Amino acid sequence: MDVREHVQSNKSESFLEDAEVKDLMARLRGNLVRPGDEGYDTARRVYNAMIDRYPALVVRCASIGDVREAIQFARKQQLEVAIRGGGHSAGGYGTCDGGVVIDLSGMRGIHVDPVERTARVEGGCTWGEVDRATGGFGLATPGGLISTTGVGGLTLGGGLGHLTRRYGLTIDNLLEVEMVLADGSLVKASSAQNADLFWAVRGGGGNFGVVTSFLFQLHPVSTVYAGPMLWHLDQSVEAMSFYRDFISNAPEEISGFFAFMVVPPAQPFPEHLHLKNMCGVVWCYTGPLEQAENVFKPLRQYLPPEVDFVGQMPYPALQSMFDLSAPPGLQQYWRADFVSELSDEAIDLHAKYGARLPTPLSTTNIYPINGAAQRKDANDTAFSYRHANWVHVIVGVDPDPSNNQKIIDWTKDTWLALHPHSAGGAYVNFLMDEGQGRVKATYRDNYERLAAIKGKYDPDNFFHINQNIQPTE
Ligand SMILES: Cc1cc2nc3c(=O)[nH]c(=O)nc-3n(C[C@H](O)[C@H](O)[C@H](O)COP(=O)(O)OP(=O)(O)OC[C@H]3O[C@@H](n4cnc5c(N)ncnc54)[C@H](O)[C@@H]3O)c2cc1C
Repeated sequence: MDVREHVQSNKSESFLEDAEVKDLMARLRGNLVRPGDEGYDTARRVYNAMIDRYPALVVRCASIGDVREAIQFARKQQLEVAIRGGGHSAGGYGTCDGGVVIDLSGMRGIHVDPVERTARVEGGCTWGEVDRATGGFGLATPGGLISTTGVGGLTLGGGLGHLTRRYGLTIDNLLEVEMVLADGSLVKASSAQNADLFWAVRGGGGNFGVVTSFLFQLHPVSTVYAGPMLWHLDQSVEAMSFYRDFISNAPEEISGFFAFMVVPPAQPFPEHLHLKNMCGVVWCYTGPLEQAENVFKPLRQYLPPEVDFVGQMPYPALQSMFDLSAPPGLQQYWRADFVSELSDEAIDLHAKYGARLPTPLSTTNIYPINGAAQRKDANDTAFSYRHANWVHVIVGVDPDPSNNQKIIDWTKDTWLALHPHSAGGAYVNFLMDEGQGRVKATYRDNYERLAAIKGKYDPDNFFHINQNIQPTE
């Protein structure tokens, strides 16, 4: 009987020996949850409700020692291991069937050094926590756009956000990681120590070990001029074409991602627009505030937006502005690609499929990766596609599982139409479980080097619940 059947048929028992589990429990600073325990059903779940897995044990680590204990326990019991940071991976890599989940959500310490302009961030932090901790000093490092996303997964996959054009990918601001390897040893990796491992974790995901803390470079970012502008769908081709030309050549202080979305039926959106399918850009300008109005003047004159909420706000406020539209516990189905050139033909396709969002929370997003992100070469870190210019992601979302086929069909149809206009691979953090071919296409000529480093640090592929890099001997 597999663990799922076991849990479903006998909810009060775990298949692990009680004494073994009690022994582990006695060693932990944190705690653990197993089938039958109160809270198991919450503990086994991740952000994407389409992922429905039943781990044998969720170890809620509170220290590096707990991470080591969890690894050693899983090895002894010959169980698989999933690592969970913020639990946001669309493919559900933060949980597993029948294995051990190393849940880092109890490790959320942040230490900001305003003199060195660095932040030491524990592996279970979310971006909202980091933005608020560093924001208190008028500092920030590039992170994601939703405050509940985990620092762990986002960083290890590369990290795209509003500060990418100005300060690079998240990994370009990573100075050091401290991590527990598959054999339980604790190591540091930086450009000075274990440089091969440091190269690999900058884009190579959770393949190499459990990162217990990240050291980031910070930059002065305080009040920004930011927010969304929205246009009606009959202006989408014009808006998107203007956006493409504008952001391709804009100063690095300007960032903006393009989206098709449905207007939430809530304030501050005007009532006549509620639940309307529209398109828009969420902007973030980090340059001198007195110049901000001038920067956006050409766009406002060329194509006056129907909604214009762009104005001054603290950077952490921008970073949590869309949290309510991305709550956990919804059905999610994602597809993505890197894109070198956003052609007129591709824009027409975006307009066509973006106008057919299947449900109110579904969306398509286009992120620019240019500016500072392109100061490094494709082989400087494991992140191979930094010169692609764009990432698009198609996200089918709904609370109701009976709509799954509808959101899956729309996501796949949109992706299939756009994929021929793409560069080949996809941003690992936007991939679901799409097979080795997609992983290899994403890392291109970095894959072999990653596989060799995996062979050195994790020869048994102990950490394989991820966008897996298979070790070479
Ligand atoms: C609502 C939403 C918004 C998003 N916005 C952005 C965005 O703006 N920019 C962007 O770049 N991405 C974005 N993403 C994608 C995001 O980067 C990935 O989902 C990422 O995997 C999330 O990391 P996590 O720690 O929350 O996920 P988890 O599911 O916990 O982990 C994902 C993977 O990372 C590994 N991992 C996590 N933490 C660690 C660790 N400490 N040590 C070792 N391995 C670890 C896990 O093994 C797993 O394979 C978004 C995702 C969502 C759902």
